[in-house]
Formats: sequence, structure tokens, C-alpha cells
Amino acid sequence: MEIRFVPGAGYDSNTYLFSGSHPAIVDTGTGAASAERILSATEKIAGCRDVEAILLTHEHLDHAGGAPALREKTGAKIACSKKCAQILKEGSDASARLFGIEPPRFETDRALCEGDTIRLGDDVFLVLETPGHSQGSICLYCDESGTLISGDTVFAGGGVGRWDLPGGDYETLVESIKLLATLDVETLLPGHGPTVERGAKRQVDASLRNLAGWRGREIG
Ligand SMILES: [Zn+2]
Repeated sequence: MEIRFVPGAGYDSNTYLFSGSHPAIVDTGTGAASAERILSATEKIAGCRDVEAILLTHEHLDHAGGAPALREKTGAKIACSKKCAQILKEGSDASARLFGIEPPRFETDRALCEGDTIRLGDDVFLVLETPGHSQGSICLYCDESGTLISGDTVFAGGGVGRWDLPGGDYETLVESIKLLATLDVETLLPGHGPTVERGAKRQVDASLRNLAGWRGREIG
């Protein structure tokens, strides 16, 4: 598995570039500036701008905002959960308005459901619906390598996504992280902050333990 990590700048989410037989971009930052940054990183690792899929972990602007510009420049198809697709189509993510920003509004190309698989680079990832931080949140898990793409559901160091934005829900987040804690996670690729290369299951378990105690804390 060849993955290039493009850390988020400012409010932008982290971006992950998967090279190989099915080049893919996971999460896209807030907009045009992040799209250019991601494209130049893609050219550096792949030698071209050929990308097959743009995968969005959820509908928040800091993850989805750059997707239309990247699609335009690469011809890639945008994939996300059904709920995320609906919210993006309607431009109805109320959390963006809390920050005085217009929510992202665009049509996506492929709606993913629990149990679907998607190829990222040379690897197959399983789609897990993990609402709680937002309604349309998904995580992606590669069983073979134990790699978990966790969006804003869990972070390194036992962190968890905030659930107090519109579309968030504490109890739902607990159930989603319980599901993640059943996985044998070796590598964690979260939507913000550092990645974890080894033994990440311990940190996912810590996220679940911390969740009750951290109620009210705002992260991600
Ligand atoms: Zn988010």
C-alpha cells in the first residue's frame, strides 16, 4: 500500500493520496487553494494528475469543499455515503452556517453503503457507516493491512470527533466507535492531526473509553 499523507493546513482536513492501480484522493480540504495543493502533491507521487476516485469521509466543508475543483481537474468520480451525498446535493449542512460559511453544494457520483467496498490505490477498503460526528460519516477499513481511515470519528491519542454540531449525536457516536473498537486496527489515518503507524487499536480503544469522560469537549 502506497499512501502519501498531505497534512491539513489551517482548517483543511488531512488528505491521503493512494497511488497504484486505482489512484484515489481521500478528503479534500476546504476549497480551491487546498485543491491546488493536493494536485501538486498528486503530480509529485504519481507523475500525473490521473485520479480515479475522490472519497469523502463526510459532508463537512473542511473535508468536502475542495472536491468539485479536484473533480474538474482530474475527471475523478466523487464517492461518499448516501446521506453525505444527499446533504451535499441539497447544500444543507447546517454546521457550515454556524461558522458563517455557505455549505458545500454539489452532486456526487457514487453513493456508498455499509458493507460496500472501494478500491483505493492497490487495496480494497470496506465501507463502515459511522454517524455521530455528522450524519453522513463513514470510515474505511482495509482488513489485509489493518488500515482504518477514520475521518472525524476518531483521532490519534484516543481523540474523538465533536458531536455538538448540527447532525451530530453523542449516543450515535458511541455506537460507531464501539464498532471501530471491534476491528484489528494497525494504522490509523484520521481526518485531522497526526497519523498512527502501528498498534492503533489501543488508541481506538482509548477513544471509546475517553468518550464518556470527554463529553462536552470539542474536537475536529
Ligand atoms: Zn467534520
